[in-house]
Amino acid sequence: MTINIDKFLDIVREVIRDKKVPVVDLIAVQTKDPFKVLVATILSARTKDEVTAQASARLFKKAPDLKSLSQIHENRLAKLIYPVGFYKTKAKHLAKLPGAMQEFSGVVPQTIEELIKLPGVGRKTANLVVSVAFNKPAICVDTHVHRIMNIWEYVNTDTPLKTEMVLRDQLPQKHWIPVNSLLVAFGQSICRPVSPHCDICPLNKKCPKKDVQPRKIPGAKMKNNSNLKFISWNVNGIRAVEKKGFIDMLPEFDADVVCLQETKAQEDQLSEKLKNISGYTSYFHSAEKKGYSGVAFYSRLKPLQVQYGLGDDEFDSEGRVISLEFDKFFLINIYFPNSGDKLKRLDYKLRFNQKLKEFAQTLEKQKNVILCGDFNVAHKEIDLKNPKNNVKHAGFTPEERSWMDSFVEAGFIDTFRMFNQDPLQYTWWSYRFSARTKNIGWRIDYFCVDGKAREKVHSASILKDIMGSDHCPIELVYSP
Ligand code: SF4
Repeated sequence: MTINIDKFLDIVREVIRDKKVPVVDLIAVQTKDPFKVLVATILSARTKDEVTAQASARLFKKAPDLKSLSQIHENRLAKLIYPVGFYKTKAKHLAKLPGAMQEFSGVVPQTIEELIKLPGVGRKTANLVVSVAFNKPAICVDTHVHRIMNIWEYVNTDTPLKTEMVLRDQLPQKHWIPVNSLLVAFGQSICRPVSPHCDICPLNKKCPKKDVQPRKIPGAKMKNNSNLKFISWNVNGIRAVEKKGFIDMLPEFDADVVCLQETKAQEDQLSEKLKNISGYTSYFHSAEKKGYSGVAFYSRLKPLQVQYGLGDDEFDSEGRVISLEFDKFFLINIYFPNSGDKLKRLDYKLRFNQKLKEFAQTLEKQKNVILCGDFNVAHKEIDLKNPKNNVKHAGFTPEERSWMDSFVEAGFIDTFRMFNQDPLQYTWWSYRFSARTKNIGWRIDYFCVDGKAREKVHSASILKDIMGSDHCPIELVYSP
């Protein structure tokens, strides 16, 4: 199906008329000042719009121009812009900005090639500054643009950079500047990354909906109302994702149980809001060491029983396993150890793995078992971008992979591979070298089930567009 892009974007324009304008466009409208647009754009990466708006306002009070910015120390900048995502790194970039701008006589440059020479400015930021601040043709490809253009099958790409290149070839130039703000506002309100609201979207009949799982229509029953939806996500700090909007995001998952790993917090360090999200009961198993490891559940279903750990102090002190028992199955949420630098913890990890397998095999004798979490291992070469370079590295050693072989031989099934044999399907990307943008990643997060549960697995997928952590969530739909 080929879509009519002019019509689609016209409809989107109508739909978002009363929605919030992305913050960077707002700043451009309010100030027409390229310096402020540039700085706000740097701050906006991986940060909610409201947080960017407040941080920009605080910063611009003290530093309305380049000269005043150059007089503020990096530590003070970090305090001013906190809590934007990666505020320490962004403060470093801002501190270096006045020096870097000398090459351009202190004036914000107007081309992408020049802008990307500035600290903290990648192609997305550069495109946004060129289009928003200078009203020149450029296509900023935010994650929403990349995602929605693929959903519409207007492009067929696996990275935002490739999307930008294809759009430069085929998108009529009149759409280049507005497309980003249109699709960001549309992606935040209707065509959301998790459970898009297709039921109220005027594009519903014509949209190809590639790889989309629409939300359940409020008040309507699922076709098979015994289906349950589970989400697993290594959040790399539950307090960090709280600042990135987790409390609003949780209901959007529309999941029966959400399983988190690497929560890095003890229960008394969590806000009351985080512990009591409406509609869910939360369960936490934390490490004794503060700010380390930890797993958690948010469940809409009432379990028969909750089990904390594996019953072995060596592992339970690290808060790595929590299990819920339901009528027909167990759900085990696991944060496997990392083998660590120079593989110092490989032996510990292999002992943990063995214990975990025995634990699952014991439960399997009673009823079905679903295991999920960050396994900290890419099983096969297809499960990471650079297998040859990583043979001796944590997460891809022969020892870890052969444990995964033994786990599969014991009858446990990697549900994602029941449906998808494609390469380049990852769940974790390093924060360095723009790895996520370039899709240089690893698939180390899994939903596995025991052999007898195979027929009960309805679908398994990777929610690669959900940001907030260096891992993305994964999903399992299951009929007990
Ligand atoms: S129909 Fe659904 S998938 Fe398509 S654009 Fe609308 S919300 Fe997005």
